[in-house]
Amino acid sequence: MRILLVEDDPLIGTMVRLNLEHEGFEVRWYKTGESALEVIEADRFDVILLDIGLPGMNGIDVARRIRKIGVNTPLLMLTARDDIDSKVHALDGGADDYLAKPFDMAELLARVRAHIRRSTGSLEVLTDAELRIGLATVSVERRALMTPDGQWHELSEKEVVLLQFLARNPGRALSRADILEEVWGMDATPTERTVDNFIVRLRRYVETEPDHPRHIVTVRGWGYRFEP
Ligand code: CA
Repeated sequence: MRILLVEDDPLIGTMVRLNLEHEGFEVRWYKTGESALEVIEADRFDVILLDIGLPGMNGIDVARRIRKIGVNTPLLMLTARDDIDSKVHALDGGADDYLAKPFDMAELLARVRAHIRRSTGSLEVLTDAELRIGLATVSVERRALMTPDGQWHELSEKEVVLLQFLARNPGRALSRADILEEVWGMDATPTERTVDNFIVRLRRYVETEPDHPRHIVTVRGWGYRFEP
């Protein structure tokens, strides 16, 4: 498994490279977006880790360029601050995921593994706009999901974001606080109980037996885990 790392900070870059190599990944490290783009066009990687704050071309422009030339490799952005604006820009630029600095190395490794699992097909992602969650096929564009009987059910915007968040993190225990921050963000007036109510509703569509869920699993005292 080959990782492309684009990071200008020597300390962070060294740390990330050492940890990934320790896990058996092959890492190619570049310090500017321009140099990384040259190898992306010529070579194949399993995951791209891209810093936003780079000298010269910034990470978001690099991400746009990567997508524009048709490279669909999972792209994880490293944002300098944990603010909503950087996250939104990262995702708009074509990133699949983001991690705010300072990040936990164990979390970075978990996310890299999750993206590799997803791209190697153990989680079925039909297109960018369609997700398979349990029994349901979710259409992001249509903001609806289809159950096996062919019926469409409308989803709220928050429900779509919640399903996308689950799909991006297969096998990972997500806390209610993580889910609240991701889905509700700044308008964090809802309580953790709201998350539970959303999950109860979604389980009715994605689970064969909603009372004995196999896909959106409860992690006791913590939150939920998506099992593809
Ligand atoms: Ca930087």
